[in-house]
Amino acid sequence: MAVAPPRSPPDRALKTGPHAAREVAAGDRVPASLDEVEAGIQVCRRCDLWRDATQGVPGEGAAHAPLMFVGEQPGDQEDLAGRPFVGPAGQIFDKALAEAGVPRDRAFVTNAVKHFKHEPRGKRRIHKTPNRGEVTACRWWLDAERRLVRPRVIVALGATAALAVVGKATPIGANRGKPLQLPDQAQGLVTYHPSFLLRVPDAAAKARAYAEFVEDLRLAGELAGV
Ligand code: SF4
Repeated sequence: MAVAPPRSPPDRALKTGPHAAREVAAGDRVPASLDEVEAGIQVCRRCDLWRDATQGVPGEGAAHAPLMFVGEQPGDQEDLAGRPFVGPAGQIFDKALAEAGVPRDRAFVTNAVKHFKHEPRGKRRIHKTPNRGEVTACRWWLDAERRLVRPRVIVALGATAALAVVGKATPIGANRGKPLQLPDQAQGLVTYHPSFLLRVPDAAAKARAYAEFVEDLRLAGELAGV
């Protein structure tokens, strides 16, 4: 799948004005639109993850999508492209969505944390899991996206997203497939992160986890009425 060209952070900030974006990022003003979220993320200093990232990666999709998917954080390719779910995990996600019969254009996709956390290893940038403090800091943006999009169903992909969406540790194995009532009136579901499916070493276990993932996406589509 071709990676979209990077979007320019300065262009995004101009949508609402750099001053407005800084006010929103500092928490002095609640973001009133997804454009303000997008611009605010580019100047956000709520945690230190912006320092080593190329740019912040906001969510994208239908403005009032009935279904929201929340991943962990942008990966290497997402960090460069400025768009969520465009790397290898995004390709598995798209394939599973199609198999589950969920139209991608009825979904809004985003991440719990908007900047790429990583450490250098040679020429590569190796993913590092965001800590609880970083997840908590970045909930300002996820909560704004939830408030603005108002999805009927929010699906947390993986444990970090589950922490951000549910507000407490919610183990995936014990909770997947069970709708949860969230405080913002949405129904919640937790399931695997698609990158986990790439890492399962045993072929049979991988096929089983993928089938469960598709089943969870199908349930999410049914609950959201898409
Ligand atoms: S990861 Fe989130 S909280 Fe941290 S700087 Fe980026 S946008 Fe701000």
